[in-house]
Amino acid sequence: MIEKKAYAKINLFLDIENLRNDGYHNIKSIMQTVDWFDIIKVEKGSHGIIKITSDDKTIPTDSSNIVYRVAKSFFNELGISDGVSIHIEKNIPVSAGMAGGSADGAATLEALNELYGTPFYTEELMEIGKKSGADIPFCIVGGTKLISGIGDIIEDCPQMPDCYIVCAKKSHIGVSTPQAYKELDNIYCDFVGYKYSKEKLENILASMENKDIGGLSASMFNIFEEAIAVEHASVKEIKSIMNKSGACKSMMSGSGPSVFGLFTDEETAHFVCNKLIKYGAQAKVCKPISK
Ligand code: ATP
Repeated sequence: MIEKKAYAKINLFLDIENLRNDGYHNIKSIMQTVDWFDIIKVEKGSHGIIKITSDDKTIPTDSSNIVYRVAKSFFNELGISDGVSIHIEKNIPVSAGMAGGSADGAATLEALNELYGTPFYTEELMEIGKKSGADIPFCIVGGTKLISGIGDIIEDCPQMPDCYIVCAKKSHIGVSTPQAYKELDNIYCDFVGYKYSKEKLENILASMENKDIGGLSASMFNIFEEAIAVEHASVKEIKSIMNKSGACKSMMSGSGPSVFGLFTDEETAHFVCNKLIKYGAQAKVCKPISK
C-alpha cells in the first residue's frame, strides 16, 4: 500500500487574461502550496475495478471522483486494465478554491506511479493529470509557481517568504468553479489581458525576491473576490475577523469561498484561527511549503 499527502493550494494572485474560443479562460496566477493535506492510500485491487472510499460522505466515490478519472487515465496510458483501491482521508475544504480534488488526483497519480515501478516521468504524469483537472500539473510540482494558460503553463518564480497562513472556509456551501467563471463572464464583457493588475503581479514577484511579506500583502489580487463575496457573506465576515486581528492582508483563494490571511506572528495566527473555529469555520494555521 502506498500513502501520499495531497497538499492544498492558495492563489496569491489570480486574474484572467482572456476568454478562449473553446470556452476556457487563460489565467495568470501565482499559486502556493500550503501544508493542509488529504491523505491518499492506494493499493492494488480486483482486476479492472477502481474502488474509491472516503471518510467524507459529501464527495462522490463513483466515476465522477477526480481520483477515479486519473486512475483510469493512468491504466489507459499503461495499456492495462488493473484494479485498484483508493481511500481518501479528506481534510481540505471541499469546493473551496483550494484545489482539494486536484491535489487528490495528483497524489493518486504519484502513488500509482510508485506502485507500478515508476513507468512515467514527472512531466508525463502532469500530461496525464491535465486531462482530469487543470490544477493537477501544479499540484504535482507544488511550491510557489507562476501559472498561465488554462492553468497548465507552470513557471518557476521566487519562493514565498516564510510566514503563517490562516486558511478558513465557513458553511457547507461551496462554489462551483465553472459557475464562478460564468458569473465573471457576465460581469466583464471583455477581459483586457490582465493589464490593470500587471503591476501588482510584478510587485508580488519583487516582494517575494526581497522576502518582504508587507509588500507581497499589499499587492495580492483576486478577480473573483468581489463577485463571489456578494453571494457568500462568509467571505467578508472571515476577512473582517482576520483583518481586525492583525492579518497583513486577507483574500479569497481561487474561486472561493475559502479565505486566507497572512501573519508574521505565530501566536496571532493561532489566536485568529481559534476565533474562526468558534465562528463556525473550518480553519487551520498553515505554512507555505515547497512540496
Ligand atoms: P479548484 O480550487 O481546483 O477550483 P475546489 O477546491 O474549488 O477546486 P474541489 O474541492 O476540488 O473544489 O471540488 C470540486 C468538485 O469536485 C466538488 O463538487 C466535488 O464533489 C468534486 N470532487 C470530485 N472528486 C473530488 C475529490 N477527490 N475531492 C474533493 N472533491 C471532489
